[in-house]
Amino acid sequence: MFDLVEAFHRPASIREALRLLHAGGRRARIVAGGTDVVVQADPDIRSLVDITRLGLTYIRRAGGGWAIGATTTMAEIEHSAALRTLAGGILVAAAKECGSVQLRNMATLGGNLANASPAADTAAPLLVLEAQVAIARERSRRKMALSDLFLKPGETALGRALLVEILIPVPPRGARTGWSFQKLGRTESDISLVNTAAGLQVDAKGVCKWVRIALGAVAPVPLRARAAEALITGRKLDSSLLEQAGEEAAREASPITDLRATAGYRREMCRVLVKRALAECVERAGYSL
Ligand SMILES: Cc1cc2nc3c(=O)[nH]c(=O)nc-3n(C[C@H](O)[C@H](O)[C@H](O)COP(=O)(O)OP(=O)(O)OC[C@H]3O[C@@H](n4cnc5c(N)ncnc54)[C@H](O)[C@@H]3O)c2cc1C
Repeated sequence: MFDLVEAFHRPASIREALRLLHAGGRRARIVAGGTDVVVQADPDIRSLVDITRLGLTYIRRAGGGWAIGATTTMAEIEHSAALRTLAGGILVAAAKECGSVQLRNMATLGGNLANASPAADTAAPLLVLEAQVAIARERSRRKMALSDLFLKPGETALGRALLVEILIPVPPRGARTGWSFQKLGRTESDISLVNTAAGLQVDAKGVCKWVRIALGAVAPVPLRARAAEALITGRKLDSSLLEQAGEEAAREASPITDLRATAGYRREMCRVLVKRALAECVERAGYSL
């Protein structure tokens, strides 16, 4: 699989990892859990830089919100009691849906985002949470909105940089707030045909004060359904409005046909999952339609 790989490095610091990446040029590749790198088996790779010993495996509070190190595994997120309290546990729910137990023990959050699959399960909840990513280059550090990270399938704005951590600001809280993550896959452990995440806040009269909706596997990159959000913001929620929001989100999608599903099926399931996610948010917010 990696017959042409000449070196496997295990640096102990971010600085050393970046030096090795720089030295290896286009033929060097970061490896975290390896669950994407191994199956992709790019024949151009000559050196692998293992980043699992850089001290980037953590889940901690930061500025009222959360910071999650890039090499934190899906299993660690899935079993994090602390993250279950964040936004109704939508990130925990997404991590729990990633592949099999064995896969989740290896697969990292940073790898899920850096791999830039439109179907990455953690992308939609993190877009709803308006997450940022911290990235490191040899001579600079910066943060960027997660929504700016994804460029096209398999391509991010990272270039040769290392994704260091994922930063989640304090989300809306309170009695009338609800969250939901929805995934449709062919089998329990397969990647998403469609996934959606949503967060919503209503007032006592059922008027939507705040809403975020994100879609996965229905466009070249995971994305926010901004027209659907605009449609329901400031309006009194009822079943018909949620149905319209699902239809609006489906219009914002631009799915493809591949071996897993047709574009038409994905668009239709996008409509269904968005409506389902919003209905679950409303229910969890304690409001009856
Ligand atoms: C059988 C199977 C089932 C799967 N099911 C799902 C699923 O249900 N849902 C889902 O979302 N995914 C699924 N995946 C995809 C994969 O497991 C995830 O995307 C995983 O989170 C990738 O993380 P990793 O640590 O293994 O990444 P790696 O394979 O180590 O790396 C992936 C890519 O990201 C780069 N990279 C990794 N970490 C960083 C970093 N910190 N900074 C910069 N670049 C980095 C690597 O160079 C590589 O290009 C599945 C994969 C397989 C093989």
